[in-house]
Amino acid sequence: MISDQLVKNFRERFPVVVENEPMSKHTSLRIGGPARLYFVAEQVDDLTNILKAAQADGIPFYVFGGGSNMLVSDQGFDGLIVQIAFRAIQVRRVTISAFAGAVTSMVAKQAGEAGLAGLEWATGVPGTIGGAVYGNSGCFGGEVKDNLVSVDVLTLPDLKRVALPKAECQFGYRDSRFKREPHIILMATFGLKAGDFIDIRKRMDDIVKKKKAGQPYDHPSAGCMFKNFVYQDEAEIEILKRQIKDVPADMLARKSISAGWLVDQVGMRGEKIGEVQVSEKHGNFLVNLGSARTQDVLMLTSKVKMKVRDELGVMLEDEVQLVGF
Ligand SMILES: Cc1cc2nc3c(=O)[nH]c(=O)nc-3n(C[C@H](O)[C@H](O)[C@H](O)COP(=O)(O)OP(=O)(O)OC[C@H]3O[C@@H](n4cnc5c(N)ncnc54)[C@H](O)[C@@H]3O)c2cc1C
Repeated sequence: MISDQLVKNFRERFPVVVENEPMSKHTSLRIGGPARLYFVAEQVDDLTNILKAAQADGIPFYVFGGGSNMLVSDQGFDGLIVQIAFRAIQVRRVTISAFAGAVTSMVAKQAGEAGLAGLEWATGVPGTIGGAVYGNSGCFGGEVKDNLVSVDVLTLPDLKRVALPKAECQFGYRDSRFKREPHIILMATFGLKAGDFIDIRKRMDDIVKKKKAGQPYDHPSAGCMFKNFVYQDEAEIEILKRQIKDVPADMLARKSISAGWLVDQVGMRGEKIGEVQVSEKHGNFLVNLGSARTQDVLMLTSKVKMKVRDELGVMLEDEVQLVGF
């Protein structure tokens, strides 16, 4: 545990740092215990300075953007949580560069307004560009890696600014190099295509409509809790195929079984623990019905995973990022 004296000294040097900030205020699930120290970085230099000091003092730290893909422990985080809030977006001819704290849907909107096509999918993804790059976010057939050119990062622990071309980011399905190496994403640059403003706008409106129709927006959530089950070998879905005769052909063709569909097959849609429920509308969303606790979310996700594993032979993996465990 970091000592009270260390916290006091740190706050004397950085008076804007807040103590015991409830993370429930900053996560889309509206759950999460306190960050012992909390700082909003509005400039890259602010981020560098505070991380330098935290490293020197041996204070653990964690950075985040919009909090829309995070599950923070009820006990909180015994260290410094930094919200990345540098949000500038710049359009140059057919490229758009966005700082990590830029809201992803705003980046999509600005690209569209400039008549640039390629980021329409991003209009439906909450959170920031930093979080989107981290998890190679995507929907309706598009994902970050499709149009990304490069990512500027702050390397750890030496805090050097480095530009990484896409080829070095190791993107995969909801995966990137940043999940394995603790670089901090500062900025992303996308290469887009000139298109018709009205057509782009229409595609964005369609995506928002589809998301609203298929996903729950009436309660807080963290989006999809589990990754779809991507497999290489038919043997990996042998039990599933034995148990369910009519696995949808499109999933088999893509070798990707929808996690929400799996949850539905084991009858867990609507299942509740405490104030957390598997959404009635979408089996891969867990919703906070009011005063949910992270512990309830963990119990419910474990129950779902065990049922899917025991009945269908598939081990679901978390899509959401755990903080403070
Ligand atoms: C209603 C709803 C719908 C959603 N729909 C989709 C969807 O269609 N497709 C999809 O992919 N996701 C979806 N999500 C999940 C979420 O919106 C995305 O994963 C999003 O890109 C996360 O961005 P964020 O800024 O909120 O990340 P955060 O939740 O803030 O952080 C997520 C992870 O990224 C890391 N991170 C964030 N910023 C940085 C940075 N600058 N440098 C290094 N690491 C960083 C954090 O440490 C954390 O591990 C949905 C969520 C909700 C609530």
